[in-house]
Amino acid sequence: MRRPFIAGNWKMHCGPSQARDLALAIRNGVLGSPDVVDVLVCPPFVSLAAAAEILAGSTVQLGAQNVFWEEKGAWTGEVAAAMLLDSGCQWVLAGHSERRQFFGETDETVAKRLHAALAAGLKVIVCVGETLEEREADQTAAVVTRQVRGAVGALSMQDWNSVSLAYEPVWAIGTGRVATPEQAQEVHHLIRDLIGEMASQATQEAVRILYGGSVKPGNAAELLSKADVDGALVGGASLQAADFLGIIAAASGS
Ligand code: PEP
Repeated sequence: MRRPFIAGNWKMHCGPSQARDLALAIRNGVLGSPDVVDVLVCPPFVSLAAAAEILAGSTVQLGAQNVFWEEKGAWTGEVAAAMLLDSGCQWVLAGHSERRQFFGETDETVAKRLHAALAAGLKVIVCVGETLEEREADQTAAVVTRQVRGAVGALSMQDWNSVSLAYEPVWAIGTGRVATPEQAQEVHHLIRDLIGEMASQATQEAVRILYGGSVKPGNAAELLSKADVDGALVGGASLQAADFLGIIAAASGS
């Protein structure tokens, strides 16, 4: 049985002071509830240290939204994996669709970020998902297969212990348009099959696959009830502590 995993991607919201408040509300909200769900928040880079201070000693984990693959040097504006660890991160996202859409992220650069993060000791959520155009052209399976193979195709068995995947159909991100539980399950099942082909049966059964795209407290339980949906990567609803806690509560019962 895979332990549910709820991650919040704060995107470009919450500077250090707001991040402190939101992290505190989430920390207090999970306090005293049964520890049956992994909870992660991913604030912007500048707010990581502030959030880390608030979350120290709590079960809520901290992640960044991106990482560069070089260790150090003349890379203006970039942040290295060791810096994220030093800021209190355990996790980092790689390949979010907004990075792919707006910042030139490719399957190749996702793989570079992933390998650099793993080598430094971070855990990684690798994001994949098709656009609306690709879904309507019946390309969902081909696109997701290419993205998954491109990112995690060359992982060692040990690396797999530090990787989760997130299926995030681009047409469902921030649009209020959520994939049906059946649509999500179909793609999650495909991803799990791919993991089986690339790794082992044990890995296939162990790796968590999160769904992302307009997850809210009201639709989380149904999505999470599907066999291969092990958690959620939450954008908008992770910015309100009550909503995020509602999704965690739904996962606790799944
Ligand atoms: C996301 O950014 O990963 C996301 C799923 O956003 P939202 O929940 O707002 O659709």
